[in-house]
Amino acid sequence: MSQIPAFPHGRTDRERRGSSPLSRRQLLLRGAAGLTAAAAPGLVRDAAGGHFGLRTGAGGQTGPRAEVRLDRVADRMEQLSRIGAGPDGGISRTAGSDADLAARELYAGWLREAGCEVRTDLAGNQIGRLEGSEPSLAPLATGSHLDSVPSGGNFDGAAGCVASLEAVAALGEAGIRLRHPVEILNFFNEENGKTGSRVLAGEVAPEEMDLPAYGGMTLGEAMERVGGSPERIAEAALAPGAFESFLELHIEQGPTLDSEGLDIGVVEGIVGIRRFRVTVTGVANHAGTTAMAIRRDPMVTAARIVAAVHDETLERPGRQVATVGYLEARPGAANVIPGEVEFTLEVRDLSMEVIASHYERLRAVAQEIAARNGTEVHFEPYYLSRAAPCDPALVDLVFDVAGDLGFRRVRMPSGAGHDAQSIAVFAPIGMVFVPSRDGISHSPREWTSIEEITNGAAVIAEALRRRDEAPA
Ligand SMILES: [Zn+2]
Repeated sequence: MSQIPAFPHGRTDRERRGSSPLSRRQLLLRGAAGLTAAAAPGLVRDAAGGHFGLRTGAGGQTGPRAEVRLDRVADRMEQLSRIGAGPDGGISRTAGSDADLAARELYAGWLREAGCEVRTDLAGNQIGRLEGSEPSLAPLATGSHLDSVPSGGNFDGAAGCVASLEAVAALGEAGIRLRHPVEILNFFNEENGKTGSRVLAGEVAPEEMDLPAYGGMTLGEAMERVGGSPERIAEAALAPGAFESFLELHIEQGPTLDSEGLDIGVVEGIVGIRRFRVTVTGVANHAGTTAMAIRRDPMVTAARIVAAVHDETLERPGRQVATVGYLEARPGAANVIPGEVEFTLEVRDLSMEVIASHYERLRAVAQEIAARNGTEVHFEPYYLSRAAPCDPALVDLVFDVAGDLGFRRVRMPSGAGHDAQSIAVFAPIGMVFVPSRDGISHSPREWTSIEEITNGAAVIAEALRRRDEAPA
């Protein structure tokens, strides 16, 4: 189909920002600003259109050229956008659903087209493997996920699967055979617990298979539907060294790249998360007969703590974030001063030490506020997700590659969780972000341009090639 219904806006980022509109052809070149064909490695344009190439070979040598193809990326994103498409324009391709199965089948065909052997592991991860010239080496792994949240967008996960495959296909078509095997992964059930990648990390307990998946099945049933074996997940765990490295492209799902007009986010790591249940205890009493001066109102304490959490977190240097996302007053009636207020506190940062010290600070401030108000506050930790730093050598590699290709790039943390974070348990990881329009994700309004995804594919291709030559 020539129409691409999934991308109805048709505006480029630059047009949207009000600068001079660029033609599609110029856009292809946009990443290569300032580079000439002689200044390889860099992007070079195929005169026939539709492709943009990546001149490989260091320091200006002419060598075979991997050409990531914008037309193929567009076609594949468009095909995926129809699988699980709902009337609201959203994509419902939850793990183990018919739509997920259809997407996996389509993807398997594309993997084979690129020369990969396709298999499904015990955890339901779909894997395309392309042999290298030295098959005994651990594979360079790359990929993302094709499942979606209910009524999600067409880019979360899918962009990474299409870009990783495009990178590998482009290398193959240029006759560049890597020494390492390459494995392209489509992880099972990223959206409802990162199940497939966490199984590889040995982090999924058997009981988890009984948890509900989206759409009424258990996780185990969903895994079985895609060809996994829930009773054997323990055997699917991978040991350190199983992957030489893992590179994931993902949409940013935040506004930084889009709002700052950047092409590529070089992810430094996935933030860690600590969550606490905070209980403020006061004295419940009659809302009409209790004078203001003698109240010990936990709601007032809670309100002041919520404000302090925001202010303290904003004022502290660094990129930590803290959120109160849920609050409940008990007994919870219009005419009763509450006796107890419970709320959640979540703190995220790339450094677990920053999370710990910031939490200590917030707790001290909260205790001060509570005491001043004649109330008590108690913190109970209930959730921990460790930060997953990207491998410094891979961060530098992605940063250098993106720069050499002429992309405007920035180092940044990932505030959202990704499969790469599980893989970090046993292999060095790197991540490439591409812009999310207005930072919107998990919504039918989620949008990333084909150019931006193709830019990312070019970065993945060149990063794989350089990593293959000189693994850390
Ligand atoms: Zn995702």
